Amino acid sequence: MFELTDLTTLKLPFRAASILKLSSIENVCVSMPELASAPRFILGGGSNLVVLEPEFEGVVLRPEIHCFEMNEAGSEIFLEVGAGHQWHEVVMRTLEHGWYGLENLALIPGWMGAAPLQNIGAYGVELKDHCYRVKLYDFEEQAVIDLDASELHFGYRHSILKENPGRFLVLTVTLKLSTVPNPRVGYGAITEELEKQGLSSTDPCDIAKAVISIRQSKLPDPVMTPNVGSFFKNPVVPSEVAERLKAEFPEIPTYADGAQIKLAAGWMIDHLGLKGHQVGGFSVHNHQALVLTNDGTGNADDLRELVALVRSSVKATFGLSLAVEPTQLGHFN
Ligand SMILES: Cc1cc2nc3c(=O)[nH]c(=O)nc-3n(C[C@H](O)[C@H](O)[C@H](O)COP(=O)(O)OP(=O)(O)OC[C@H]3O[C@@H](n4cnc5c(N)ncnc54)[C@H](O)[C@@H]3O)c2cc1C
Repeated sequence: MFELTDLTTLKLPFRAASILKLSSIENVCVSMPELASAPRFILGGGSNLVVLEPEFEGVVLRPEIHCFEMNEAGSEIFLEVGAGHQWHEVVMRTLEHGWYGLENLALIPGWMGAAPLQNIGAYGVELKDHCYRVKLYDFEEQAVIDLDASELHFGYRHSILKENPGRFLVLTVTLKLSTVPNPRVGYGAITEELEKQGLSSTDPCDIAKAVISIRQSKLPDPVMTPNVGSFFKNPVVPSEVAERLKAEFPEIPTYADGAQIKLAAGWMIDHLGLKGHQVGGFSVHNHQALVLTNDGTGNADDLRELVALVRSSVKATFGLSLAVEPTQLGHFN
């Protein structure tokens, strides 16, 4: 068995029968057909993965594809990036080039290939706002295909890729950026942070600096404190449900999400007094209740117990079922 625990940020034990690094699209086309019916799992940076069963009797695929190719059309920049690039490095590289759009998404861990899977988002911007096209290997068709962003059914932490686990391997993502800044500073504490640091609210590089500072102050660094970022999705509910909850809990934060309302799951967990609550080696993070951390000794049963407690407490008080955000290998129940 191959020891892969250190390739995940939650540091739950993870071993696999084999691991296969894929370094190019040609490499994928040659090796994938024979794996079409084999148990397989795609692993990028391991920052959105919860391993509940330590032994995986299949092949772990690591798409370490690197390319960074730009095409220009007036002020529009179309940038094709390989699945193996670190997301944050790509954000910083685009800003250095003066290609704007990704500044609010700075410091999100993980690789480019996973970004479309759950339509990563932060500070009022999502990948879907800058995703133009995705090149995929389709295990069902055994072929490389291109899907335009409109075909990916992006939603809140959702896409057609997440809907069909195991079917698609992301090879490259083409981003649509601009040489003209379009600052989005109305979300969270970006404006306050820019003012505090004497930074410009119209310079995308300054916005990225502010986002990085806020994230560093609020979120545990997975290198020091194992975690997977937000553990639960914010519930999205019809406006009548939100209004009813708002009448009972006037301080609950609410955000418009199309015709529906998104409620802050972290606020609910905090309201229930669960911040800092510990089960074995797992805890609800002291500063950000949406994050569960492992002190390095936690096991899958500790996590199962903590997750069950959080979910049943939220259900009992708010009547809502919290969905787990990261991908799971194994089951909670
Ligand atoms: C501290 C911290 C903060 C975070 N903040 C945010 C945030 O603000 N916003 C946000 O959206 N997320 C956030 N995340 C979650 C995570 O960083 C993202 O979901 C990221 O895109 C995961 O990338 P990864 O390469 O680590 O994916 P992995 O954990 O390796 O994989 C996640 C899923 O994607 C699949 N996958 C990976 N690569 C590919 C590929 N090439 N093709 C097909 N499937 C693939 C895997 O099979 C798995 O199902 C945070 C995580 C941490 C630890």
